[in-house]
Amino acid sequence: MEQGKNIKRIGILTSGGDAPGMNAVIRAVVRTASNYGIACLGIRRGYSGLINGDIVELGSRSVDGISRKGGTMLYTARCMEMLTEEGRQKAAENCHYMGLDGLVVCGGDGSFRGAQALSRLGVPCVGIPGTIDNDIVCSDYTIGFDTACNTAIDAIDKLRDTMQSHERCSVVEVMGRRAGHLALDVGIAVGATAILLPERDMEFDQMIERMRAGRIRGRNHHLIIVAEGVGHAQDVADRIEAATGIDARVTVLGHIQRGGSPTVRDRVMATRMGYYAVKILMEGASNRVVVLKDNEITDFDIEEGLTMQKDLNECLFQVSKAVSI
Ligand code: ADP
Repeated sequence: MEQGKNIKRIGILTSGGDAPGMNAVIRAVVRTASNYGIACLGIRRGYSGLINGDIVELGSRSVDGISRKGGTMLYTARCMEMLTEEGRQKAAENCHYMGLDGLVVCGGDGSFRGAQALSRLGVPCVGIPGTIDNDIVCSDYTIGFDTACNTAIDAIDKLRDTMQSHERCSVVEVMGRRAGHLALDVGIAVGATAILLPERDMEFDQMIERMRAGRIRGRNHHLIIVAEGVGHAQDVADRIEAATGIDARVTVLGHIQRGGSPTVRDRVMATRMGYYAVKILMEGASNRVVVLKDNEITDFDIEEGLTMQKDLNECLFQVSKAVSI
């Protein structure tokens, strides 16, 4: 067992929207810390637990078998107090009181803002991107995305069976907040007629044209994927019915996309990122976010990372259009 440089105890919390793979992050952080002789405290319910002292000691054995479970054993929460100066001060004071030499925060960009605030108050923090939306601009990948895609395509494949039988149009709303990454990958995987994305203007007339062309070529059902950032799937369905007379039914997949046992990609990514976070804390890092760039795990300053730009994969978007009829 190697000894961590000046680091004796760290904390780990999960915050914001949950994502499959968060448990694998917790396991990797706890086990890596343990390997280097560092104690680990689990902070429950995100920043609320930090402010209210809701903590649990985590040893190697307490994280046995959790990688295969969805959700997060530490719970997650949205904590309004953290948005106030007093709340942030209290959180930092509690970190000092608990003797934390570092804190790993797994969540989305809001959670990283909290980590940035704590770093400024003298608590070395490292963020790990955990969200099904893949919307962290500085990272090519966020933990939970692959599992969410697979959950969505399982559900949509089933929908397709019934839509095909009735020769209907199915309009499916998938999650993603303001980003269309989930919708684009899912849309390609299920062979959607059209994918409506917040990053691209809605090409409604083109979509209707494609549906008509499909009908002429013998396609008797249609699958339209709507990213939640575009608006309500019901509005899209109403417009399709009005324009074509085709029976259009809506399914909103909702929170089901956040659940389930993480895929191999999410478990491996979570383990790599959790390990990396502890290693850089040991090297004295603070105010950093762990990312995947060109298939390598690396890290950025949180401010720099959150102000980067990330667009949809345009190539993928063009592919989706080319193969849709
Ligand atoms: P996500 O991390 O998934 O983006 P939120 O945006 O809801 O989710 O953020 C999660 C939590 O992070 C918030 O409930 C709050 O406690 C904390 N947080 C968000 N923004 C800030 C901020 N600007 N300063 C400090 N803490 C923040």
